Amino acid sequence: MKKETERIWSSAKTILGKTLSKSVFDRWISVIDGSHCEDKTLFLSVPSGLYLNWLLDNYLPVIKSAVRSVDENINNISIIIAKGNVPDETPVSAPAQKKRAAPKKFNKSLNPSYSFDNFVVGSSNNFPHAASLAVAQSPSTVYNPLFIYGGVGLGKTHLMNAIGNFIFLHKKKTVCYISSESFLNDYISALQTRKLATFRNKYRNTDILMIDDVHFLAGKERLQEEFFHTFNSLYNNQKQIVLTSDKPPGDLAGLEKRLVSRFEWGMVTQLEQPDLETRIAILKNKAMEFKSPIPEETILFLAEHIRSNVRRLEGSLIRVSSYMSLNKSLLLTEAEIEHLLNDILEQEHSSVLDIDTIQKKVAECYNISHSDIMGKRRIKIFSFPRQVAMYLSRELTSNSFPSIGKAFNRNHATILHACKTVETKLSDNPELRTTLISIKKSLQ
Ligand code: ADP
Ligand code: MG
Repeated sequence: MKKETERIWSSAKTILGKTLSKSVFDRWISVIDGSHCEDKTLFLSVPSGLYLNWLLDNYLPVIKSAVRSVDENINNISIIIAKGNVPDETPVSAPAQKKRAAPKKFNKSLNPSYSFDNFVVGSSNNFPHAASLAVAQSPSTVYNPLFIYGGVGLGKTHLMNAIGNFIFLHKKKTVCYISSESFLNDYISALQTRKLATFRNKYRNTDILMIDDVHFLAGKERLQEEFFHTFNSLYNNQKQIVLTSDKPPGDLAGLEKRLVSRFEWGMVTQLEQPDLETRIAILKNKAMEFKSPIPEETILFLAEHIRSNVRRLEGSLIRVSSYMSLNKSLLLTEAEIEHLLNDILEQEHSSVLDIDTIQKKVAECYNISHSDIMGKRRIKIFSFPRQVAMYLSRELTSNSFPSIGKAFNRNHATILHACKTVETKLSDNPELRTTLISIKKSLQ
């Protein structure tokens, strides 16, 4: 099995060696080892989180296609960090799980590179940080449940893992960290294999249960029902529960009231977008972690231009630092950085772009008013621009259908329908295409 993994990975490496430049190959690919294969997934191991993030962001598709050209039975690539307390990528629902009576230690599910030590604290996050630390130091006593919410890439998963790692290191307690998606998969597989009792035991017998991204539970009624009982059982037994979500409990549409109210029982705390000083501090910390000297001007440029998401900030730093080291340059001009980070800066722009601005721009372009866009009148001169605004909101922002619906006072089905209508029209209407290009340009 191990030999087979090695064979596949070594052939894929040969292919990658031919397709990628030598410097990229030497720096990013040569350090990867084949770990094992499971369920049509090839697990590759890398030395650190730096490699993990960079490869995921930049080279996963090429790696995947090289591997699949060697063995087309492999459907997925999973990259893991080698050695130590490795985050266990194996889905908890793996059907091959052996029957074992012994209680399972859940620490393997944690990502060891996320700790309190490497979490930079500033005004945007000092409250969630303090609450998380308090929970880690005294689980089940201070805040239960702890509910952390905030936008993408602001550190929810980091803080949650930091709590888990701290408890695992300093307290003799079992920690279970799981994403909502894996929780769902595990539940489905328990239903299919009629092992609901095992599923329940697993989640009700842990000292700390941490479920990441609970907004994912929205609309999944049976899973919510199951989770409701898990929650009660843990809570009544004074076990700690930690949850994260992209919105506060009260804004989670599609979540049962009784769950929402329980989520609000303990501490609800928000991670906000970091301010400039915190962004600079995060960049400096990461630069030290990566051992790459980045000039002050460059750090400042990144911190000023990338505001909405720490993951994006990190990605841009990695890209700049590897570009500098590959090209042996000591300082990049702003134009060079802008060129290098073109796509990231564009993403940043669209996440800052809000639906309101899009509505106004579209109204202006079609010579109607903002209230016509927002209104309900169905005549075509209003309804079509309205659909265009809905379509562009979906294309240019990272909002979901329901939240775009909210912004237009409509339901998500209307938005979905609008997007489909505009897409169909676009395919045979060059004039519309030109109009959309010009609206997009003026939004930039
Ligand atoms: P979320 O779960 O909210 O989408 P993550 O926890 O995955 O976000 O964070 C995204 C990336 O940003 C991670 O690599 C994380 O380590 C980093 N990060 C976020 N906030 C901070 C912070 N305050 N200090 C250091 N790193 C941070
Ligand atoms: Mg997360």
